[in-house]
Amino acid sequence: MKIAEASSEIVPYAKTGGLADVVGTLPLYLEKAKQEVSMFIPLYKSVITSGFDIKLMDVTLDIPIGDAVHTGYLWKGVHPDSKDITVYFIQHDEYYHRDALYGTESGDYPDNSERFIFFSRAVIEVIKRLELSIDVLHCHDWQTALIPVYLKTLYSHDKNLSSIKTVLTIHNLAYQGLFWREDMKLTGLDRTLFNWKPLEHWGKINFLKGGIVFADIVTTVSKKYAEEIRTAEFGCGLEIILKEHEHKLYGIINGVDYSEWSPENDKFISHKYNIENLRGKAMCKKRLRKVLSLPQAKAPMLGMISRLTEQKGVDLLIVIMDDLMKRDLQLAILGIGDEKYHQMLREIALKYKRKLSLNIMFDNQLAHQIEAGADIFLMPSKYEPCGLSQMYSLRYGTIPVVRETGGLADTIIDANDLNLKNGTATGFTLKGYFATEFLFAIDRALELYKSKTKWNALRRNAMKQDWSWKRSTREYVELFKSVLG
Ligand code: ADP
Repeated sequence: MKIAEASSEIVPYAKTGGLADVVGTLPLYLEKAKQEVSMFIPLYKSVITSGFDIKLMDVTLDIPIGDAVHTGYLWKGVHPDSKDITVYFIQHDEYYHRDALYGTESGDYPDNSERFIFFSRAVIEVIKRLELSIDVLHCHDWQTALIPVYLKTLYSHDKNLSSIKTVLTIHNLAYQGLFWREDMKLTGLDRTLFNWKPLEHWGKINFLKGGIVFADIVTTVSKKYAEEIRTAEFGCGLEIILKEHEHKLYGIINGVDYSEWSPENDKFISHKYNIENLRGKAMCKKRLRKVLSLPQAKAPMLGMISRLTEQKGVDLLIVIMDDLMKRDLQLAILGIGDEKYHQMLREIALKYKRKLSLNIMFDNQLAHQIEAGADIFLMPSKYEPCGLSQMYSLRYGTIPVVRETGGLADTIIDANDLNLKNGTATGFTLKGYFATEFLFAIDRALELYKSKTKWNALRRNAMKQDWSWKRSTREYVELFKSVLG
């Protein structure tokens, strides 16, 4: 199959979050699975300053944006970690040659709709002009969600383009690309599309909604999240549209890059270890306490690495903190996010200096050290489209305590009596979004920790789990094949 990925961020060129990791890694695995892959991304300032080997092509792209015509240029390179993945960069300096991808501290760039209308149309124009043969065009999030809309409307008369199947992957439904209704003019799309079914959403234009309606297939990053987003609790206002299109909605979990996240070859940890030999883990725990200036103790070490936002369940943690600190344990928190959480956690941390290490920062090395040195990992998310940290924790034998939502529900099996007996348990889960349930789940983990044999069995089972990209890639390939009939 010939697959093209269109995304506003791709590792190693530009990244603000997990989307970039997914679109940077999946194509490498698709290539390994003998698929022919190409990619599209805007030519950001970061691509130029990083000095990638790319070449300007003899292609000028004149794209109408409202009443004006904007000119873009095309650059080409090869993904540095691939054998032969062509990456097309869309140049329009006025739009993309900026310090950040989507905005500054004072907010989103005011012309974001225009920037990604241009990018979406440019991708289609490049395919048309170069007469690229593409079977599946894989779009990601709101930034490229208009591509399926354009292909099925403005460009539907073009023979080469109309045979392309589109797949739209939603990485986080909370971000939809909602813009002022007047921006409809910038799209060049027929005004009749601005009604509540395809593109309009409570008086605004909604790019993601358009993509959901027009894409041949919609996916999201876990099976459970694919179910959840059809409900009012998780649907962010799009639940009705998603329910209507559920016949083409699928969930495929993101994979883990085990070359970076595995205790056997982790370059950031002091002692390597694996399922056969866990001595290194005990040493990592010792080292972690030293690094965090916590006293050496027999107590279990709990860890939490997270953006400190409402999504991640920080409220639950704050509510239980005083009770938690009465237990015989130590806790390492690494995170950065909303200022209100920073302040609350700082106040709490002052009270528990010998038990709690609070690190409000982004520190990749420390993240690896906590994954390796902790016994238990906390992830009580309110919602979680996929989540990666819980899968890392499994591989590091750091038993996750998670809320049963989205990717957490798909990847962690609760250590209740039955699952412990039949050997399927991998962690501890809570169902409701309640502080008492969170504390109860942690208490169950602490109780099991007291039995060395039972804890070791659970840890072994956790470390055995395979959430690699290989398995997720297989599912994408099957899905792409199915849409081609
Ligand atoms: P999300 O993408 O929603 O933030 P994930 O669990 O999918 O959550 O991925 C989080 C990733 O970010 C993990 O690799 C985790 O180690 C890393 N991370 C989060 N916060 C920090 C931090 N403060 N310092 C270092 N790494 C962090």
